Amino acid sequence: MKIGCPTEIKPQEFRVGLTPAAAREAVSHGHDVVIQAGAGLGSGFSDDDYIAAGAAILPDAASVFAAADLVVKVKEPQATERHLLRPGQVLFTYLHLAPDPDQTRDLLASGATAIAYETVTDRMGGLPLLAPMSEVAGRLAPQVGAWTLQKANGGRGVLLGGVPGVRPARVVIVGGGVVGTAAARVAVGMGANVTVLDRSIPRLSYLDDVFMGTLTTQYSSEAAIAELLPTADLVIGAVLIPGAAAPKLVTRAQLSTMMPGSALVDVAIDQGGCFETSHATTHQDPIYEVDGVMHYCVGNMPGAVARTSTQALGNATLPFVLQLADKGWREALLANPHLRAGLAIDQGRLTSPPVGEALGLES
Ligand code: NAD
Repeated sequence: MKIGCPTEIKPQEFRVGLTPAAAREAVSHGHDVVIQAGAGLGSGFSDDDYIAAGAAILPDAASVFAAADLVVKVKEPQATERHLLRPGQVLFTYLHLAPDPDQTRDLLASGATAIAYETVTDRMGGLPLLAPMSEVAGRLAPQVGAWTLQKANGGRGVLLGGVPGVRPARVVIVGGGVVGTAAARVAVGMGANVTVLDRSIPRLSYLDDVFMGTLTTQYSSEAAIAELLPTADLVIGAVLIPGAAAPKLVTRAQLSTMMPGSALVDVAIDQGGCFETSHATTHQDPIYEVDGVMHYCVGNMPGAVARTSTQALGNATLPFVLQLADKGWREALLANPHLRAGLAIDQGRLTSPPVGEALGLES
């Protein structure tokens, strides 16, 4: 099969759908791999790295889309890319179709088959192609929170780990899933005093077990959050209610109970944010202040560490890319129900009921 990987064109997207290592594996499975010139540069991979892996370099997106049976990307195809898709072709990438009627309409019209990373499942009911990016964002959260707390950035000038004789910062993590657990690991490692809140008792038990007393767990309630805010240096928002907008767990009025220069990092901003005063920011201009409290609300945190994120995503997608290429997409989906869960559009026909429901389309 011919596998193609174009350069990502969404603003500030530096990841790439195939690493040279993934390209090498696909080539060793007998497939042809074509990469758009410069596609890997944002993640630190040169064209020569891909050539050494056995891939061919093509000059532009149009020639990659024209050559490929299977197109592997990172972000949803932008309008100019959607017009390059054709019947019989397979697109494997993040799609997020439910809030995007234009993209859905174009993909349906293209006659291509589209498989969404974000709905591929695993045996434990998890989302294996979303989890690596949550791991990245979670590990970044204390790092950007520590930076936000620095005086020059408007923070209260507190070092997360403290020093001998000076107490560490108090970090409150709301949501103890993939993001929250990764954030807790880093915050604990930096020496902070960490409390994790969740609504799931089994999740709190798990955290209690694995962190062995190095953090505090607390059941998440309005009262618990209100009690913790006045002494928190850093609050990390990491909640998710699948399919729904994030619940607002800190109100504007509550900011006045917090210490001036304390910081909120709202990782859940891609679901609307879990603090009332959150609005999406960019890597160029990541923080702002409301009522004396610093906010960091970047919607694509993994983009800050594009190389790590590309490698993490590539590790997770490669087995599925190989299944699609080795067996052919139809056989691969029949053989693997978890991959089948990613099928959003089957040759111009919508197959995802939640997307149909969200957009009022038949599926
Ligand atoms: P997850 O499902 O693994 O974890 C979410 C946790 O939130 C669950 O344990 C759940 O029980 C808990 N929760 C739900 N309601 C709660 C409440 N009221 N109080 C406390 N906990 C509550 O999800 P995840 O992968 O950790 O993702 C968390 C959020 O981070 C999502 O919104 C995701 O989209 C977002 N995210 C953002 C970025 C970014 O770049 N900004 C990157 C990756 C993920």
